[in-house]
Amino acid sequence: MTYPSCAQCKKKVLDTGKCVMDHTSHVINRYMLQFAASDWTGHTWLGAFDEIGQVIFGVSGDVWVDSVAPDNDRKTMMVMEAGCRPYKMSVKAAKEGRPGEEEKVRYRANRIEKIDFVAETNQMLAQMSI
Ligand SMILES: [Zn+2]
Repeated sequence: MTYPSCAQCKKKVLDTGKCVMDHTSHVINRYMLQFAASDWTGHTWLGAFDEIGQVIFGVSGDVWVDSVAPDNDRKTMMVMEAGCRPYKMSVKAAKEGRPGEEEKVRYRANRIEKIDFVAETNQMLAQMSI
């Protein structure tokens, strides 16, 4: 769900207290998520990083680690609420695999926003009145 990251380069901080780039800067907990997303065409698994997690859960990775994760009831409620909410997402696909191996496609959410139903409705009404 989250990982301790270097504030300077965003890479994972190792047990040594330094990141792979050998920085010793402040540690920030960042989201690293895997979740199923669906629309009218079906569903797929998406990966997502910190910016997406902050929109989905409404709190930073540090707040999640310090106050949400230790409170099981709050954590369960926040995960359930996030899973039942519609979003607008931009998804990027990337092919992975070494030569000779089966190619695999991974999908990553790279932009997300909560749906503003009032704005969406006004836009549809404006289009209908043309
Ligand atoms: Zn670093």
